Amino acid sequence: MVDVLVIGGGIAGVSIACELAADAHVVLVEAEPELARHTTGRSAAIYAPSYGGPVVREFTRASEPLFGDGVLTARPALWIAVDDEGVDHLRELHADPITAQQAVEMCRVLRPPLAAAVDRTARDIDVMALHARYVRDLKGRGGEIRTSTRINGLRRDGGGWVAGDVRADVVVNAAGAWVDRVAAMAGVPPIGLEPKRRTIAMVRAEVDPAWPLVADAADRFYFRPESGGLLVSPADETPSEPCDARPDDLDVALAIERINAATTLGLRSVHTAWAGLRSFVADREPVVGAWPDHPGFVFFAGQGGYGIQMAPALARMGADIVLGRTQAPTIMSPR
Ligand SMILES: Cc1cc2nc3c(=O)[nH]c(=O)nc-3n(C[C@H](O)[C@H](O)[C@H](O)COP(=O)(O)OP(=O)(O)OC[C@H]3O[C@@H](n4cnc5c(N)ncnc54)[C@H](O)[C@@H]3O)c2cc1C
Repeated sequence: MVDVLVIGGGIAGVSIACELAADAHVVLVEAEPELARHTTGRSAAIYAPSYGGPVVREFTRASEPLFGDGVLTARPALWIAVDDEGVDHLRELHADPITAQQAVEMCRVLRPPLAAAVDRTARDIDVMALHARYVRDLKGRGGEIRTSTRINGLRRDGGGWVAGDVRADVVVNAAGAWVDRVAAMAGVPPIGLEPKRRTIAMVRAEVDPAWPLVADAADRFYFRPESGGLLVSPADETPSEPCDARPDDLDVALAIERINAATTLGLRSVHTAWAGLRSFVADREPVVGAWPDHPGFVFFAGQGGYGIQMAPALARMGADIVLGRTQAPTIMSPR
């Protein structure tokens, strides 16, 4: 018998479990033999407060002082417009306009863009260090982690929930792309989560490690130096079932083609590639709370492409909601 059962061992699950464990008895279950195998282990590891909707940006900014020592490293985000569509998008970004010449000075391989803006508050995130810290602190607070433990059924029992040999007062559904599948097992309505595949490739290139993150304002590519090479993405969003996502060669080729058009890099040689699922509800903001008719089953989901950068503040608020320390905003009907 525990206070809270957390389902999912990605950044969402471990961060909220850790915050909850300060005041509650928590068990976290993860289907895979190791934690962070799915979306969390596949991110681009960027902290960019200029990126995402208003709620995402708010949680991202609030997270900055909560990451702890050694997790964030300065790397500005340089947003560039390579066509009229990009110029329109650039206006919506919360970044400071700079000239095309200043953009090229920040990254010498850029062909002069039509327009550019910089977010100097952006950072690289050491995702595995952040995840490991939450795991360590969760255990230190008496929380229990069970890997290779897939939840296949959840049933109501009085005021609580039963899953296998665990009985919990509250379930936190932090199952990433599988959140609506887990809800269905519990007889709880879905939140309309849509997993979307995103591809990343590591490419051999002559890079300056001090280059910024360079991102197309219209979200069609980004790149940044990483481990002596270049991390590139076509910023794809291909709808997918919840699964162990795999990269498509065509998406890798698209990233290279678009980045070669915007730079003088002449990229050719791909070292490795991977893909992961970024899961969104309709408004692309995170979902934290329970349906009015299903209290005790709390969604912690829809972190989309921003789940690492807003994890610290989102987990604190999520724990406050689960423990009734703040008024839980019940979920509205998906738009
Ligand atoms: C290519 C890519 C680039 C990204 N770049 C960034 C970035 O730069 N910055 C940023 O902030 N975010 C980024 N993101 C987004 C970020 O990675 C996600 O928002 C975040 O990792 C989501 O974490 P999660 O814990 O919800 O999901 P996951 O890490 O997928 O964890 C969910 C876990 O639940 C488990 N699970 C599912 N069903 C069950 C079950 N029935 N029983 C038990 N366990 C179950 C799964 O095995 C999984 O381990 C990126 C994502 C991708 C794919």
